Amino acid sequence: MEKKNMDWENIGFGYRKTDKRYVSEYKGGRWDKGLLTSDANVVLNECAGILQYCQEIFEGLKAYTAKDGSIVTFRPDLNAERMMDSARGMEMPPFPKEKFLEAVDQVVTANISWVPPYGTGASLYLRPYMFATGPVIGVKPSDEYQFRLICTPVGPYFKGGARPLTLCVSDYDRAAPRGTGHLKAGLNYAMSLHAYVTAHDAGFDENMFLDPVTHTYVEETGGANFLFVTKDNEIVTPESNTILPSITRRSMLYVAEHYLGLKVTERPVRLSELPDFAECGLCGTAAVISPVGKVVDHGKEICFASGMEKMGPVIQQLYDLLTGIQLGTTEAPEGWIRKIIDKDQIF
Ligand SMILES: *Cc1c(COP(=O)(O)O)cnc(C)c1O
Repeated sequence: MEKKNMDWENIGFGYRKTDKRYVSEYKGGRWDKGLLTSDANVVLNECAGILQYCQEIFEGLKAYTAKDGSIVTFRPDLNAERMMDSARGMEMPPFPKEKFLEAVDQVVTANISWVPPYGTGASLYLRPYMFATGPVIGVKPSDEYQFRLICTPVGPYFKGGARPLTLCVSDYDRAAPRGTGHLKAGLNYAMSLHAYVTAHDAGFDENMFLDPVTHTYVEETGGANFLFVTKDNEIVTPESNTILPSITRRSMLYVAEHYLGLKVTERPVRLSELPDFAECGLCGTAAVISPVGKVVDHGKEICFASGMEKMGPVIQQLYDLLTGIQLGTTEAPEGWIRKIIDKDQIF
């Protein structure tokens, strides 16, 4: 199979239409068998639940060409389980885990020429999502849904080294107390867009959202979880039920504890403690971990010891280990890597 002729290192992070996507429909109380299609358009009734009351959830994961030439994904079972949790929280029918994994395999296999080669830093981003297709006008969950899994190649997140980010403490909330902040739903992003644009216009890379009840504890950014390193090399990450549980963060904590022997604590983190930390990073599938150099709280600058030039030493180690596990240069914990296509099947 010929690879697409692309400048993989410079493709950026945007949507590109690839060859095939997987679609399954939920009707009459059950999911159909699902199929691959070349049709990149979705045709919907004008009253579809997604259009009226925003009933939608999604996931994000990547497929990589590993060092040995095989094509792998990283912990897709956790994405499948999280999507089932999101579905329950949004009164949608969970898409079964086995079917989810099967859809991942099918989409990657059908788009193999779009999987970036090893060593480019690029990967194939997979976006599973599900939305209400059945018509609703009175407020209620829809009776019909579509699950779709699309893919698009994405470039390396850090080209020419990671540049530490500058965040601002937001005046807006990302999630309501006891709301949907822990679910991976588009609606959480819709309501954070205004905060995001406001922060960007003011020259910041991202928002630091605080807890929506007291505005004294650190939550997350619009799309990534915080991880802090203390001056004694302990890892601390915020605990809150309005944070979206990041798979990258969970994996990072495991690696910190079991590969580096560091102490790991998940607990509420006060905004006022930030000056006590040496390093700060943002965890998510897109960048794995992005270093944060500075947080600005209404004009007051909080600078981390790691500075504005490069990743701090502990975050760099975590980044190297996790990307090594994903690309097959570091031994992975049992069950973390799902091999989709063996190197012997690629020619
Ligand atoms: C997806 C997401 C993350 C990161 O989760 P990963 O599983 O690591 O990609 C963090 N915060 C929010 C709000 C998200 O939607």
